[in-house]
Amino acid sequence: MTQPWLQEIQSAIKSVQELEIILDQKISTTNYPLFIPKNFLNKIKSLGKNSSLYQQFIPSDLENSIAGHLDPIGDMKHLKAPGFIHRYKNRALFMPTEICPINCRYCFRKNELQNETFDLGFKLESIKNYIFNHPEIEEIIFTGGDPLILTDEKLLFFGEFFSQFKHIQYLRFHTRTPIIIPSRISLNFIDTINQLSKRFFISIMIHTNHIEEIDLEVEGALKSLHSSNALLFSQTVLLKGINNHPDDLITLFKKLSSLKIKPYYLHHPDQVKGGMHFYLSIEEGRKIYRELQENLSGWMIPQYILDIPEGFSKVPIFNAENSVFSGNIQLKNQSISIKEPI
Ligand SMILES: *Cc1c(COP(=O)(O)O)cnc(C)c1O
Ligand code: SF4
Repeated sequence: MTQPWLQEIQSAIKSVQELEIILDQKISTTNYPLFIPKNFLNKIKSLGKNSSLYQQFIPSDLENSIAGHLDPIGDMKHLKAPGFIHRYKNRALFMPTEICPINCRYCFRKNELQNETFDLGFKLESIKNYIFNHPEIEEIIFTGGDPLILTDEKLLFFGEFFSQFKHIQYLRFHTRTPIIIPSRISLNFIDTINQLSKRFFISIMIHTNHIEEIDLEVEGALKSLHSSNALLFSQTVLLKGINNHPDDLITLFKKLSSLKIKPYYLHHPDQVKGGMHFYLSIEEGRKIYRELQENLSGWMIPQYILDIPEGFSKVPIFNAENSVFSGNIQLKNQSISIKEPI
């Protein structure tokens, strides 16, 4: 029998027409794909048009604007083999799938995630050669797409693959799936993580942007993740119209902390084509972040991070001295100017 979570993926809504029927309203046609599991769509529907869920996942005309960049963070410059990005010395991104449990309308990879299919055999061969020649890589970060879309067998298969390199000690999973398809966190998945943790140190970074995403069902899934050996963290994208109010973020980070999930990164939005309507200024972000510092215990506060365009790096972007952004970021040996839309 197909597992419930796989059924959710197979029966997900993929067309504007189907969506219009279920929501009983006109939906914008965009240049980007649509993918929403039905169970999650029911949650969107019951929260309604003004909810953070609706705004994050239902297509909007604003996506057809030509402003913004195709690869806003420039990480494709660091593609070392198909599906493998190595930008920082000790850790690398592994992208085993382009599929996500949902299409986030603000996605920073929204212009890249729709047309390629990788030949896995070929990919692993070139990744294998690359890793053998780079013993400084200690951590593999599974991303995508969303790695929890892979079956447990596939995850174990990749675990086996990476276990051939002695220098790889850490596996990390970046995922939105526990929020969108909580049934994915099955007993079998917990077993899978525990299998992997016999060889690797495992961490899971859960992507969640708003307290409305954490209903009782999701809370159950997040709690059951604690029966695995993984260390749990969260990542949040700051988004205009979704969570750019300190109160929303404060509630979210308190909730995550109470679920023993450490808020890790608060990402400044990337300037992605098709997602520029979610962009807010660094100055506004800094003001919000200061509110977090005043209202949350230090350990509940994530780092506020900007991914510098053109593939430079991630940098902490909060500035205690001044909220106004000068337009320049000083890295080790160069000053980089960042243009923000006015
Ligand atoms: C964000 C990112 C990582 C992970 O960075 P951490 O600071 O360790 O979370 C690794 N590689 C690339 C290319 C990234 O963009
Ligand atoms: S889960 Fe991440 S990669 Fe997938 S659509 Fe959402 S933001 Fe993009």
